[in-house]
Amino acid sequence: MVASLCLGFWLFLYPLGTSGCHFAKTKSPIGQTSVVRACLGAKDDLPSSLRTRIGRCLIFTDEDLHDDKILFESLEKLPLELARELGIPPQQKWVKVYIFSDSQSFRNYLDTTYPGLPKRRAYFFAKKRAGGLAEEMQVLTLRSDRLLQDLRHELTHAMLHSAFGTVPLWIDEGIAEYFENEPNCLGLNRAHLGDIQSDWSGGRIPNLKWLESLTSVNQMGREEYRESWAWVYWLIRIHPGGKDMIQAYLADKAQPTKAIGFAQILESEQNDFEFQMMEMMSRVNIPEPGNSISKRGGSPP
Ligand SMILES: [Zn+2]
Repeated sequence: MVASLCLGFWLFLYPLGTSGCHFAKTKSPIGQTSVVRACLGAKDDLPSSLRTRIGRCLIFTDEDLHDDKILFESLEKLPLELARELGIPPQQKWVKVYIFSDSQSFRNYLDTTYPGLPKRRAYFFAKKRAGGLAEEMQVLTLRSDRLLQDLRHELTHAMLHSAFGTVPLWIDEGIAEYFENEPNCLGLNRAHLGDIQSDWSGGRIPNLKWLESLTSVNQMGREEYRESWAWVYWLIRIHPGGKDMIQAYLADKAQPTKAIGFAQILESEQNDFEFQMMEMMSRVNIPEPGNSISKRGGSPP
């Protein structure tokens, strides 16, 4: 699941009004990334000492990330993975990523700026701004041993939002869960798989119509996150034509008047589609720990 919960709500912000400091560019050895000394000021106590570019992401930190070659390479390749797997077009909009150095400054910022948010390790915001300015996409997170997974998860949300606008919560989270692990995992989340197989053994039955009715992250617990992941995993890796169905669905959601529910689409194909999904996913073997599977336990709230 998400270790990081994502907030798909809309906020209105005024322009950030950064100072006009000059940046001294330095060459990065990694792809198109570059790091600059960012003299942006301590605006809102956001991390601001260093600015690093990875593709369409501007990453702001107070500590240099360049030792983390794995993180850089993984984030650079993420758009290619989404394009290859689901035909999601490359992100055109910029996303600002703020990585706090410690949990105290992270919580202080959130409590001051967005009081009442549920406590999570990472957030994605799409903010409408006043005055007809283009919306701003922002990821807030903190350094942890799950930083890479959290960033892959939140940036997947950003790419989906950039391509399709606001998409239904279950598929937004399911796809983010699918891509949060390294590509050699092939979307498989060991913890999710084990937990959901236990859910089903205990009598829980997947219910896509219920998932589709959820509109707020506050309605989503661990079970909902892993079931969202299971639907996406099943569609991409097991169901013939599942990828095409996801692509068509996302494209339709960009034109809401044409949209119908995913459960309705699957039901028209097979009445007992939920049972079929459960049966097939129950037969997927849980890999041994460390065998091409995420190290993270991955769980939402
Ligand atoms: Zn999320």
